[in-house]
Amino acid sequence: MNRAGGAPTRREILHAIGVMGGASVLYQAMATMGHAAETQFAGPPNLSGARPGASVLVLGAGLAGMLAAYELGKAGYKVRIIEYNNRPGGRNWSLYGGDTYAELGGATQKIGFAKGNYLNPGPWRIPYHHRSLLHYCKAFGVALEPFIQLNHQALVHNSKAFGGKPQRYRELAADWDGNVAELLSKAIDNKGLNAVMTTEDGEMLKEALRTWGMLDKDMRYVRGPASAARRGFDRPPGGGVDGAPIPSDPFDFRDVRQSGVWRAFAQHMGHERQTTMFQPVGGMGMIGQAFARQVEGKIRYGAKVTKIDQSGGAVTVTWTDVASGAVETAKADYCVCTIPLGILSQIDVDVSPGMRAAIAAVPYSNSVKVGLEMKSRFWEDEDAIYGGISFTDQPIGMISYPSGGMHSAGPGVILGAYTFGPASYKLAALPPEQRIAAALDQGAVLHPGRYKEQFSNGAAVAWSRSPFTLGCCAQWNEDTRKEHYQTLVAVDDRIVLAGEHASYIGCWMEGALLSSLDAITRLHKRALEA
Ligand SMILES: Cc1cc2nc3c(=O)[nH]c(=O)nc-3n(C[C@H](O)[C@H](O)[C@H](O)COP(=O)(O)OP(=O)(O)OC[C@H]3O[C@@H](n4cnc5c(N)ncnc54)[C@H](O)[C@@H]3O)c2cc1C
Repeated sequence: MNRAGGAPTRREILHAIGVMGGASVLYQAMATMGHAAETQFAGPPNLSGARPGASVLVLGAGLAGMLAAYELGKAGYKVRIIEYNNRPGGRNWSLYGGDTYAELGGATQKIGFAKGNYLNPGPWRIPYHHRSLLHYCKAFGVALEPFIQLNHQALVHNSKAFGGKPQRYRELAADWDGNVAELLSKAIDNKGLNAVMTTEDGEMLKEALRTWGMLDKDMRYVRGPASAARRGFDRPPGGGVDGAPIPSDPFDFRDVRQSGVWRAFAQHMGHERQTTMFQPVGGMGMIGQAFARQVEGKIRYGAKVTKIDQSGGAVTVTWTDVASGAVETAKADYCVCTIPLGILSQIDVDVSPGMRAAIAAVPYSNSVKVGLEMKSRFWEDEDAIYGGISFTDQPIGMISYPSGGMHSAGPGVILGAYTFGPASYKLAALPPEQRIAAALDQGAVLHPGRYKEQFSNGAAVAWSRSPFTLGCCAQWNEDTRKEHYQTLVAVDDRIVLAGEHASYIGCWMEGALLSSLDAITRLHKRALEA
């Protein structure tokens, strides 16, 4: 509603368009007005007019399932969620001191972190353009803080460069830019770029290269005030008698190339890791808990779904009570199923042959994360590393320093391994305490001396051994997308699938939410037409 007498605000105009035209028209309008240009989120769905008494069973209390239940409940459906775990959130989860985690194979970890410390075994960062997730975090009262992705003071370690000695990202990044700028400038002087640009263009580019690449008056990247201003000093500027700074020596460009620092550039530059990123205060699991508060009393925990039937004009779901082994069933008019595909493919599901083939067609990746609690925050006190990521070519892949609780006394939890692919399966094959030991050995290469001495306890999660996902995330490729995606996301009589696997933003919470909103919007339409 417009404020009395005033011109309508943008928000009011968008609201009116949304009411009249629905989500896709609203999205077009928002994009035209400069909002939402990077997301398909057009605001919460406007589902209304559910048939009185119409019911929906939602399978899985991850973010996709809980959002479906929340929005369908608001629209008037009778909703119940059936969840395998004894907690909400699914992959959105934090491990705290006192928690217990049992993985496939039987290894059970009792987490020993100090109060307030945590490991996010799954999601840990939120891009600024994941608008639906940010919307619901705000709506449900989840406090966010910045997540530090890029830290120039963090380290890059390559066992084949610099004799295996880790170097500062800042120095390598500066030397990379400087050397590339100098090379390009030489190519212009030697007429090497004549085929692609005019002399005038070349001169303009050289001017830009001088600033971007820290070049001196002779277009050389050398030790001096320009390069030191970015890569740092041998003696930093100070006060008094010895206040004059002493610039540092750039590295040999061969060593810089060998370091593989460009892989770290690529990590930071991707759209999903650009500034600003967020994390919930107190652990990623805060989001799952906040969603659960919105559907309080509707989640049946500790219930492992084993069969989904949709004969006889209703959906009948069968589950086993995990604690007692008792078998139970429930009936509803419709079903939103968010169970990850690796598990769903092993369940007796009454859907079309095409959808069954789609469910079976998508493999899952693996990932291993290790959290290491250290007695003090030595990376801050001694190395001036506040948040961010150090990269290594060792199997642990990276070390990430906590973005929360900075400058506190400690103890603090470092992410001591975050790894995918073959290295992750090797780590997953070890018992948790050996994964932690490997993370300590490899991390000590980057922080010699302090790492093992300061270690107090750890936790390790291998997603290939997660009983509630059997993997990290769905791995679509061009062929499977072409053959199966549209069948997977279509409403199959009374059942619709949702979750990160039913999106083009795989392995992001945003994908799970957008998939959920799309699935329930179409299911609601189907229900109204019935
Ligand atoms: C290592 C890792 C890192 C990630 N990093 C990020 C990140 O930084 N940022 C980000 O946005 N996303 C990240 N993600 C992706 C994100 O976690 C997922 O996209 C999202 O949480 C998936 O939500 P969902 O609801 O689709 O599935 P889930 O969260 O998996 O929910 C499915 C639910 O179904 C339940 N279930 C399974 N089987 C049964 C059964 N038989 N009966 C009943 N219930 C069952 C499960 O217990 C679970 O609760 C990461 C994921 C991983 C694993």
